[in-house]
Amino acid sequence: MTLYSPSAVAIGAAEKPQPTGVLFDIRKYSIHDGPGIRTAVFFKGCPLRCLWCHNPESQSFEPELILRPGRCIGCGACEQACPHGAIEVHPQSKTIFTDRARCQACGECTRVCYAEGRQLIGQEYSLEQVWLEIESDLVFYRQSGGGVTFTGGEPMSQRPFLLALLRLCKARGLHTALDTSGYCSWSALDEVRPLVDLFLYDLKLMDDARHRRYTGVSNALILSNLQALSRERHAIRVRIPIIPGLNDDAENLRLSGEFLSQLPALERVDILAYHASAEAKYQNLGREYSLAGLKSPSAERMEEIAATLRAFGLTVGIGG
Ligand code: SF4
Ligand code: SF4
Repeated sequence: MTLYSPSAVAIGAAEKPQPTGVLFDIRKYSIHDGPGIRTAVFFKGCPLRCLWCHNPESQSFEPELILRPGRCIGCGACEQACPHGAIEVHPQSKTIFTDRARCQACGECTRVCYAEGRQLIGQEYSLEQVWLEIESDLVFYRQSGGGVTFTGGEPMSQRPFLLALLRLCKARGLHTALDTSGYCSWSALDEVRPLVDLFLYDLKLMDDARHRRYTGVSNALILSNLQALSRERHAIRVRIPIIPGLNDDAENLRLSGEFLSQLPALERVDILAYHASAEAKYQNLGREYSLAGLKSPSAERMEEIAATLRAFGLTVGIGG
C-alpha cells in the first residue's frame, strides 16, 4: 500500500451522498493528543454535561454565539447587521447588549465585527474540507510518527461523519486516534474500532450515582465499553481529569486503580489537573459555571495521586 497518497483520489466518488459534520475547531501541529505531530479534529456536541468541562463550547450540537466584551470597541456594526433584532447598543455608554433568547446563531454579526468581539462556534464541514486540512500536513505526520486525532465534544455522536473520516485516513495509511467518553452503544463502538489505532478514553468516576450527579449520565456503558475494548486488545490510554473534591478522594482513586489494573490492553493512564481557565468561556457563552472559585490541584497533589495509581501496577503520567 502506498502511504500518504495525495488527495487527487476523489473523495468518496463512489460513496455519495457524503455525510457532513459540525466541528468547532481543526487544530494543526497538536502534540498532546497521541503520538507525534497531529491534526486534532474537534466535533461539536456531547451527551455528557461534566461540571468541570473546559470546552463548554463543545457541548451543544448547534452552532453558538460567543461574546468577548473585552475586545468590543462599541462601533455598533453588529446591531445593524443582526436580522433578528437581538443586539442593542446603549447610545451613551456604547455598551452592547445581546438578547440570547432572540439570537438565532446566524453569524451575521460576527462577519462585521473586525474587533473579534463576537464569534460563532461550530460550523458544518464536508468531508473534503476536513480532508484538505488533514492532507496539508502529511509530511509532518510521516516525519514525527503522528497522525489524526478525532476529539470534541464527542465524535461518536456524529458517527457517520467520523466513520467516513476514519476510512479516508486509513485508506491513506494515517495513524488515527479517537478521544472518547465511551458513552455510546457497544455496537457503535464495534463499527468504529477497526479504524482506530489508539483510543484516548476518559474515565471520571467509578461510583454510578456520583457519575450521574457530576456528568449527567450513568457510567455503566462507559465502564463496560472500556472493558470490551481492552479484551479486544486495542491500544488504550485512559485519561482521568482530577477535580478537587469531586473525584480525587481515596475511595474513587482506589476503585479506579482496581478497575484499570484488570484491563489487559491498557498502555498508560494520564491524570490531567483541573484548571479554572474555562470560567471566562462560560461567561462569554452566557452560562453559569457551577465550579467557580475551585482551585487547581497542586503539583505535589498530582504526584501523590499518580503514586496512588502506580501502586496498582499502572503506568501513570501527569498531563499528556
Ligand atoms: S461589531 Fe464588534 S466591536 Fe462593533 S459593537 Fe459589535 S461587538 Fe463591538
Ligand atoms: S448570531 Fe445572528 S441572531 Fe445572533 S446576535 Fe448575531 S446576527 Fe443576531
